[in-house]
Amino acid sequence: MTMQRATKIVATLGPASNTPQRLAELVAAGIDVVRLNFSHGTADDHQKRVVMLREAAQSAGRTVGVMADLQGPKIRIGKFAAGSVFIKAGQSFLLDAACALGNDERVGLDYPELIDDVSVGDVLLLDDGRTVFDIERIEGSEIHCRNRHDGELSNNKGINKQGGGLSAPALTSKDMADIKTAAALNVDYVAVSFPKSGADMRQARELLCEAGSDALLVAKIERVEAVANLDDILHATDGIMVARGDLAVEVGDAAVPALQKHMIRMAREHNRFAITATQMMESMIASPVPTRAEVSDVANAVLDGTDAVMLSAETASGAYPVQAVEAMVRVCFAAERSQTIALQTDALDKQFHEQAFKRIDQSISMAAIFTAFHLKVKAIATLTESGSTTIWMSRINSGVPIYALTPRIRTRYRVSIYRGVYPLLTKYIATDRDELLWQAEDILIAAGAVEAGDLIVLTIGEPIGKAGCTNTMKLVKVGEYRRPKPAPG
Ligand code: PGA
Ligand code: MN
Repeated sequence: MTMQRATKIVATLGPASNTPQRLAELVAAGIDVVRLNFSHGTADDHQKRVVMLREAAQSAGRTVGVMADLQGPKIRIGKFAAGSVFIKAGQSFLLDAACALGNDERVGLDYPELIDDVSVGDVLLLDDGRTVFDIERIEGSEIHCRNRHDGELSNNKGINKQGGGLSAPALTSKDMADIKTAAALNVDYVAVSFPKSGADMRQARELLCEAGSDALLVAKIERVEAVANLDDILHATDGIMVARGDLAVEVGDAAVPALQKHMIRMAREHNRFAITATQMMESMIASPVPTRAEVSDVANAVLDGTDAVMLSAETASGAYPVQAVEAMVRVCFAAERSQTIALQTDALDKQFHEQAFKRIDQSISMAAIFTAFHLKVKAIATLTESGSTTIWMSRINSGVPIYALTPRIRTRYRVSIYRGVYPLLTKYIATDRDELLWQAEDILIAAGAVEAGDLIVLTIGEPIGKAGCTNTMKLVKVGEYRRPKPAPG
């Protein structure tokens, strides 16, 4: 029996991951969720990718969730006729809302209102700060800039104003249309870019509901205002993304590592999941091996307690997408093994001693995780409709794998991002309690999760067959008690 990796991997899809063959390789390498980046590509591109991905996952027998990542009010440059240009240090360059296709001297803007938010002397950071422009002059639709360093600039790269403070609303009209596309694609998660407050997340939830989707929401924390309003945002979202690219530009790169730890801890305390994102294996865009610093970064995110680590350009447009996933798998695994699990971190003390559990299902979940930890059981199996027991259980790092046995396909995808949670699709036919538990044992054995004689913790809602709340915890020795088969004949 092999130990499973607890930390999940989110891989962004793009031109480097656009064939059934490549997707099959990524699935085999271990991706748990794919991210559709709505800043690039058409609804049709995303739809084709979802179809290909679902096929690849199905033939591999794996559960891979789908996340739509809305562009948000991220201000981006337009496209270049040549795809990219090289701009020299000291060269003048124009951002021009009236320019349709960029060239050596100017490029278009997807947000013409930028011109009202900037003044001469402002510093614009493009492509997560790789390109720095000083604004020298503003004329009509043109922002005249001076480039600070030699470098390449390619299609649709983002623009930030140093220090933040751009006035664009959280959901643009493109996002509203994309929410409908995401709902039609039946995605499992929707990530909202640049929210400032809980109200932005509630608005996104409403629009999603109207479009007929119950996808889980991810708030990308990448604005100064979002850091200040983290508590408010956590109440309104299902998970967060530590979106280090834009966040570093807004708050200064040196503030990000401490914020990452704070945000992950806060998410756990609020029973929300966290994804750590951006530049995790950046050098692997062009190299088959990560740098030592990247290995440490991924490992430290695991030790910080992140649910998932994310790959962006590494899998979307890099030369070594599969190797990037394999490297992440390796690093996550080793970091998890290195951890001493003691149920006694600050976050846990807070969770256990200050939080009053009023819900029966939540209380059973907590009892299950405590029992599982102290008795060193082989697995927790939670028979769940909505998957909510698994988020509560997985907020505590017990070191015990949590198997979500669910008849609902939707739930199977929704729990695929939670750390240490492994979805198993079941078709319960039994309404008899014992039969149901035996079925659960069989599924766990077939999945290679347990063997006869292993002690496991099971949680279940009784009476059987009446969808409702988990109210029962049972300790089971696998295979110990089976109803004798009726004698043949
Ligand atoms: P993006 O978000 O890749 O959509 O910009 C992540 C980040 O800003 O880090
Ligand atoms: Mn961003």
